[in-house]
Amino acid sequence: MKKETLLTHSGRDPFNHSGAVNVPISQTSTILFPSAEEYHNAEKGKSCYPAAQKSGVSDPSYGTSGTPTNFALQDALCALEQGDYCALTSSGLSAITHALSAFLSAGDHLLMVDTAYGPTRRFCHNDLKKYGVEITYYDPHIGKDIASLIQKNTKVIFMESPGSLTFEVQDVPAIVAVAKKHNIVTMIDNSWATPLFFQPLSLGVDISIQAVTKYINGHSDVLMGAIITKGTSASNIIAKEIRYRGACNSAFDCYLALRGLRSLAARMNAHQANTKKVVDWIENIPQVKEIMYPAHKKSPDYALWKKQFTGAASLFSVVLDKKYSQKTLYKFMDSLKFFGIGASWGGYESLVLDFDPKPVRSATQWTEDNSCVRFYIGLESPEDLIIDLEKAFKVLK
Ligand SMILES: *Cc1c(COP(=O)(O)O)cnc(C)c1O
Repeated sequence: MKKETLLTHSGRDPFNHSGAVNVPISQTSTILFPSAEEYHNAEKGKSCYPAAQKSGVSDPSYGTSGTPTNFALQDALCALEQGDYCALTSSGLSAITHALSAFLSAGDHLLMVDTAYGPTRRFCHNDLKKYGVEITYYDPHIGKDIASLIQKNTKVIFMESPGSLTFEVQDVPAIVAVAKKHNIVTMIDNSWATPLFFQPLSLGVDISIQAVTKYINGHSDVLMGAIITKGTSASNIIAKEIRYRGACNSAFDCYLALRGLRSLAARMNAHQANTKKVVDWIENIPQVKEIMYPAHKKSPDYALWKKQFTGAASLFSVVLDKKYSQKTLYKFMDSLKFFGIGASWGGYESLVLDFDPKPVRSATQWTEDNSCVRFYIGLESPEDLIIDLEKAFKVLK
């Protein structure tokens, strides 16, 4: 099945729900069993309920392990990422922190990409360090040379491609090849591309992480994360970690995320087309020195992106022609009518924020002094967005 068909037909079972097209919302804490024996069987991973049994959760005896609504979303995400198991968490960030915690103990060493999502870095130096995990940040362009950073105690290599804020693309197959040789677990934050445009598990990555909050839900009304694993060993470790830590989601949020998921392909194609129009226009703006977007032909990572991805998302950044005062930048952003000002992305509305990569880089150096702005292109008409931007760029003249 092609991905568009998977999006439409996976995670659904109408004739098990009296014919309802969508999976009903099974909102519960306690799960009742027909007998005491059935309850204890479920605790041991053998549920009398087919949806729970199929989900692969380690202990489907209680609501924290999920209900048929959760299982349906897990099922659909597994199918899309070509994984064996999917765990849901309360946010994208919590998916990252649970995945790292599951595989790292005191004395272990973690290789973390320098361009990781800011809160991922914060978790590393704030929490993992405190628990005795050693961390080395590495250049996103390191490729096969990551071999030189591997230690006897290296347990996990974490990737994010393209990276947050500056969008460097990693050579995922090269890193995976090195990791496999040393028996190191690989994880990737795949939120930007979604499983629609990048398939890390099919390239040998062990764990793919999604901020469901972003494109998958797509409507800025749910916070959720997903950890999708390949292979029974990684799947069992994640399933247990999630159960033991009490990470869980409401069936209602899973229902909303499933509803969002159905239109993912249509939305991503529109996001991609709109972004191409905006990027092609922005390229000719004298106040823009550089566009950080791997699908842009002039990007140094264009070839790497083209080789690994089947499409591009709608989040990119620009380096402006000089360092503007904070006041001028505020005026620039505030004058945009259709670009919201706020964190996150992945919804239908466009967003804008200025940023400085310097404080969140250590393995590489951000030497650019000019102002940087990140744009998220929504589902508005790109023509309207361009008129809006044209007006705002006048502020920088
Ligand atoms: C937003 C984001 C996350 C975290 O998702 P939340 O659900 O907001 O916690 C993780 N990774 C990347 C790349 C993100 O942009």
